[in-house]
Formats: sequence, structure tokens, C-alpha cells
Amino acid sequence: MTSTMEAGGRGEAAWGQAPRRLSILGTTGSIGLNVLDLVATEPGRFEIEALTAGRNARELAELAIRFSARIAVVADPSSYAELRDRLAGTGIEAAAGAEAIASAAARPTDILVSAIVGFAGLAPSLAALGATRTLALANKETLVSAGPLFLATAERAGTRILPVDSEHNAIFQVFETDNAPNVSEVIITASGGPFLRTPKPELAAVTRDMALKHPKWSMGPKITIDSATLMNKGLELIEAYRLYPVSVDQLSVLVHPQSVVHGLVRYKDGSLLAELGVPDMRTPIGYCLAWPERRPTTVKPLDLATVGTLTFEAPDRDRFPCLPLAEAAMRRGDGAPCVLNAANEVAVEAFLAGRIGFLDIARVVEAALAGIDAKGGLSEPSSLLAATELDGWARKIALACL
Ligand code: NAD
Ligand code: MG
Repeated sequence: MTSTMEAGGRGEAAWGQAPRRLSILGTTGSIGLNVLDLVATEPGRFEIEALTAGRNARELAELAIRFSARIAVVADPSSYAELRDRLAGTGIEAAAGAEAIASAAARPTDILVSAIVGFAGLAPSLAALGATRTLALANKETLVSAGPLFLATAERAGTRILPVDSEHNAIFQVFETDNAPNVSEVIITASGGPFLRTPKPELAAVTRDMALKHPKWSMGPKITIDSATLMNKGLELIEAYRLYPVSVDQLSVLVHPQSVVHGLVRYKDGSLLAELGVPDMRTPIGYCLAWPERRPTTVKPLDLATVGTLTFEAPDRDRFPCLPLAEAAMRRGDGAPCVLNAANEVAVEAFLAGRIGFLDIARVVEAALAGIDAKGGLSEPSSLLAATELDGWARKIALACL
């Protein structure tokens, strides 16, 4: 765990009464809307600096007006005119394009929530480092594609990274930094997704609609498909490997269909510490927004007597080959996780567009990873440019395999 990730942080100054200045990248998404839901419950506690979105200018303008943002930015340049017109006369600045999103991310804030989906989140997340005191990171693809670069830059810039992803947020809460040498295992849980009990021969026939029905979590389409293939858990293993001072062999996945226990840390003295809660992202998001304090949220309290039974089982790596592919990329290191992520993004997009089948997602990712040896090896991206080039190279291979 780097100093930007130190858990606990009890020495940090308390919030005080001044409002916290907050920006959100990916406002119109599942995470972004949950952030605003929490902001709305604490009037006067936050001042909104920048809100950004991919292409939905109407929704972005409505949110920018409702939350009195200073600037709203849409990634898709063709949505600019609509955004500008909807914000005319409000005093809210409008802008468009990927560079404008990075510039908005670089405006000074107390907290920035990075919740764009995919590799597109890397550049603005990097741009925010140094400009924001705390970066609440939902965009796991940033850590998978360029984790060492991102964390080293955050450390130099003095920006604290807080993990929003529920498993990593759970681990953050129970990982005792001072006792790191006495941690023997970090466990992340997986719901198992909608196909937990689906026999292997039936997986080939899985459709987009079937895969988009997650049993426990309500999330954006890309991460919902990643949850169905278990690639999400693979990406999260790499995310945990980047965030916590553990070896690859100390990381594991447990399937836990109730999604009540989110993450566990095992200590050498025999203690196994866990964080539990209902599956609602407002708990980890609220934790990040309030940190280092804890503040009330409107999340329903977990009633263990009603839940009754908690079950755990090992993941099935044969039916869900994306998990071992991600584990292999994590073990390999160099640029393999970046390649894995890029190929997966291409494959998931193709699956959502009806161009390939469910099992083809793993096939495409495997082919891209196999391409690394043909390339003669890789190195871990040490700059945004290097990460972008590697991501682009892997996307080309993946596209050729569709
Ligand atoms: P989503 O698809 O619901 O929202 C994505 C947001 O990013 C939207 O606002 C969209 O407009 C914006 N966006 C998309 N492409 C963009 C681009 N090229 N440039 C700028 N903005 C763009 O996704 P989500 O479920 O909210 O997930 C966001 C991130 O958080 C992902 O990395 C995901 O893995 C992570 N995450 C999500 C959850 C969850 O419960 N939804 C949980 C843990 C982690
Ligand atoms: Mg998660």
C-alpha cells in the first residue's frame, strides 16, 4: 500500500464546516448517479465543480443545473451544441471533447470521483492528480491498464486514492497498514453473476439480455457483462494487487452469491476480518465522500437475521475462463493486464452489439494475450502515451479476432 493509500488515516484533519468541492467524471452512469444521490441528502455539504458525461447532453445539463455545477463537459463533440444551448443563461460553463474532460478533471477540488467506464477514464484520472486532494476511484480499468504509473503519479502529486469498488473499499476498511507483514491473505468476493449454476454447454447460447440481468447489483452494461464472465473479478484481483502490499499468491476470490461480505483480510494470528453490508454502492461511495469520518447514508441497514445464510464456494475457472486469463496476466505483469483490459473492452462491446457470442469474449482476450509473445514481450506502461499505444495495439489484435 503506498502512502497515498494508507488505510485508516485517523490523523487526517476532520472535515470541518466548509463545504467540500467535488467533481464527478462519468456523472450520468450508475456510480455517478449514486454519488449525486448521496450529495442530495446533505444539502450545503458539497459544492460541485465539474460534472462530465459521455454523450447524454440532456441528462448532464439537467444534473449540472440541479446541482449548480460550475462546468459541464460532454465527451462526444457532436453533443456540444445541445449542452451549450441547454445551459445558456445558467452561468454554467459548457465544453466538449476528451481534452476538455481532462481539463475539467484538473480543476482544483477536495474530492474527485473517477467513474468513467473503461480505458477512457485513465487520462482524466491522471489529469486530476495533484489538482484534487482525494481521488475516489471507481474506474478499475485505470489500475489494470496503468496501475504503477497512476499510483506513482498520485504519490508524487500528494493525492490520496480511495477505492470505490466495493471489494477494495471493504479491504481498505479492514487492512491494517501497520500490520501488513502479518497479513496472510486478501480475499475478494464475487456474486458469481447470472450464470453461476448454468451448465457449460448452455453458456454458448447466452444472449445479451440474459447477461445484462445481474442477480445482485445494478450497474452499467460493461461491468454487468464483466460480472457475468467473471472478468470483473479478474480485473478486481489486478486492482487489489496494485492497491495492497500483497503478493499474487496472497490474493484470492470466493464466490458468495448473497453479496453481503465484500472483502476479507486474513492475518497470521488466525483472525479473518471482513466488511459486510447490503449490496448497494452508496455504502462504499458514502465512505469515500465522508472519509476520514463516517457519515450516515440512506442505505438500508443489513439485517443478518433476514439474510439467514451466507454461503461461500470456489470459483469455477473451467466455465469462466476469463478469470484464469486475468490471473495469468496478473502473474505475468509487464503490459499484460493492459492488453487483457483492452481486448476485453473490445470483446464486451462486440458482444453487446450482437457481433460475437458470450464464450467469444474469453476467446478474443486469449488471442490478444497470445499476441504478446509474437510481439516479443512488453513493458509496463510508464507514461500515458505508452499506455495509450499499448491499449491501441491490443485493440487492433482483438478487433481482428472478432
Ligand atoms: P456506466 O456505463 O453506468 O457509466 C459510465 C459513465 O461514463 C457515464 O456517465 C458515461 O456517459 C461516461 N462515459 C462513457 N464513455 C465515456 C468516454 N469515452 N469519455 C467520457 N465519459 C464516458 O458505468 P458504471 O457502472 O457507473 O461504472 C463506471 C466505472 O466504475 C467502471 O469502471 C466500473 O468498472 C466501475 N465500477 C462500477 C460499479 C457499479 O456498481 N456500477 C461498481 C464498482 C466499480
Ligand atoms: Mg466490485
